[in-house]
Amino acid sequence: MLVDSHCHLDFPDFDSERDAVVERARANGVGHMVSICTRIRRFEAVRALAAQYEHVWCTVGTHPHSAAEEPDITTDDIVALTTDPKVVGIGESGLDYHYNKSPHDVQQAGFRRHLQACMQTGLPIIVHTREADDDMLRILREEGMGQGLTGVLHCFSSGRALAEAAVADGFFVSFSGILTFRASQEVRDIARDLPLDRLLVETDSPYLAPMPMRGKRNEPAFVRHTARVLAECKGVSEDAIAAATTDNFFRLFTRAAPAGSGA
Ligand SMILES: [Zn+2]
Ligand SMILES: [Zn+2]
Repeated sequence: MLVDSHCHLDFPDFDSERDAVVERARANGVGHMVSICTRIRRFEAVRALAAQYEHVWCTVGTHPHSAAEEPDITTDDIVALTTDPKVVGIGESGLDYHYNKSPHDVQQAGFRRHLQACMQTGLPIIVHTREADDDMLRILREEGMGQGLTGVLHCFSSGRALAEAAVADGFFVSFSGILTFRASQEVRDIARDLPLDRLLVETDSPYLAPMPMRGKRNEPAFVRHTARVLAECKGVSEDAIAAATTDNFFRLFTRAAPAGSGA
């Protein structure tokens, strides 16, 4: 079994065939998916999807692109929305200094509120970070990394130092289709060197379809292509990668229960 630890099933790209997308994921061995919230005002739609499908979990949070759209969301607001049993994490939130769709200070303030909600609830943070390694590491440390804060650096494409520092403080690192792209040798080298017990895989669908699907609309079933390349990076079997990343998923997202566990 594989887990797609980060997808966006609520996006309109899936409107015409959402049931089929979820079914194809199951048929391709993707046992669980986490549909990630990007705007708190869209949370109800994300929550409803997770309620509809047994093996779809969800999160609550504001993407850094949208930080300036939702500057009034408080830590208490976030905490209040985490009581739904299908909510397994907080985010995605973080810093994106590549697209700069919200001012840096607004991104940082919003990110801190998400991290404070994580510290209050014990839920993991889903971190979006792009071209912001220094500020990211500083803010994570100031808000509790190494002192109980848990989480994942999703769709990893940052520098080696950030990955190693986060892993040293108990974080996980998740790889998307970027891992499979020809130009991503540095990302593959980082994946090779990180401990297997801290790695996750994801699609970030509908974006970033892995090779050989690159350029198409992505969907959770395609996570197996990223898992296959991760197996090559680590020099282990695809079964070993599936087992490790699934086990890692349930260690980080402790509210998500394996099928048949009775939990
Ligand atoms: Zn992201
Ligand atoms: Zn995302």
